[in-house]
Amino acid sequence: MCDIKKDELGPLKVLHLHSSKAGLDAVVVVDNTALGPAVGGVRVRLSVDTSEVQRLARTMTFKNSIAGLPHGGGKAGISMDPASQDKKKIFHAFAELISSLDEYIPGPDMGSDEECMAWIYEETGRTVGLPERLGGLPLDRLGATGFGVSECAEVASRYAGIGLEGARVAIHGFGSVGMAASKFMALKGSVIVAAADITGTVFDPSGLDLDGLIQAKAKTGSVAGYQGPGVRRLKPWEVLTVACDILIPAATADVININNVGLIKAKLVLQGANLPVTDEAEDALYKRGILSVPDFIANAGGVIMAAMEYAKKGKDEAFRAISQKIKENTRLIIEKAKKEDKLPVTAARQLALERIKEAMEQRAY
Ligand code: NAD
Repeated sequence: MCDIKKDELGPLKVLHLHSSKAGLDAVVVVDNTALGPAVGGVRVRLSVDTSEVQRLARTMTFKNSIAGLPHGGGKAGISMDPASQDKKKIFHAFAELISSLDEYIPGPDMGSDEECMAWIYEETGRTVGLPERLGGLPLDRLGATGFGVSECAEVASRYAGIGLEGARVAIHGFGSVGMAASKFMALKGSVIVAAADITGTVFDPSGLDLDGLIQAKAKTGSVAGYQGPGVRRLKPWEVLTVACDILIPAATADVININNVGLIKAKLVLQGANLPVTDEAEDALYKRGILSVPDFIANAGGVIMAAMEYAKKGKDEAFRAISQKIKENTRLIIEKAKKEDKLPVTAARQLALERIKEAMEQRAY
């Protein structure tokens, strides 16, 4: 049924939730709580894979640790159509069943949003990413994660020998994260040359009109609705291969893998999605001299804002914290990787682990 891998960090708890009556089929993985209660999103898709939820929970353990947050890592997945008419009922059933699981604080993820968090909050009194009317900071509307990716770019681009002014950027996954990253990168003078969603890629080497692209996506539901004289239309995955300086994978897991890593032309990869690069592909990028900043550094903006919301802090303070922590960590892991001649992802995991292990020594379990 599921394939759980155990190691010194966890997982502490794995829960499978099932109710035929409510139409609920879900899994929760609380990976590690040495630094505090686990924060992590609730992913909604047609079929949730337990081992994927476990991998995402581990990413949250590392992300929360290296961002210096008082939280461990966890993740949940609910198997259902994100557009289901029964979404509210299913979320309430999910929330009721995790109401006593105090070690886990749910947040939004792909397929869930702040309204879903409000439903969970009604049952548990414990979520992040709430609507503003309930005191929340709307992460996606504010573009917290995309902002963090662009702050990461400011530091990483210098190490990759790129100036952000005029840098050509390609976005795989023009959703909440990808769109916000595009806007903040454009504010720094970069040019979005390609964007993809599940329907396809639009590519214009001289630059896409970002406002036009956002409008087309809002109006037609996909980037394919974008029109422009120089635009070329490619398959979704082909965005990974276009000529650009910075590639931002911001869709799903394992998209950059051993089969396509050789086709990447970017000098810098900033991981907006969770787990978008396989370990083999990280190795190949490193050997090709392409700088790759791991997900739990580059996309920590959302969870930093979530933790600030949980601590009852405001939006401005949250943006300052995102900028400061992501810039500092990006510099730290790239410097460590250079000095010790290792992959940035390896350097980042080591730093995250140090803090977790120190906290684990103080705990009974
Ligand atoms: P989203 O659903 O808003 O957007 C995802 C986008 O990816 C959509 O436009 C979709 O069409 C596109 N997509 C899906 N599969 C694709 C494929 N095979 N090829 C090309 N495009 C594809 O989701 P989001 O909130 O932007 O999250 C994206 C990723 O970032 C996820 O991995 C998520 O876990 C991660 N993440 C999100 C946040 C956040 O604050 N939202 C924070 C940290 C990490």
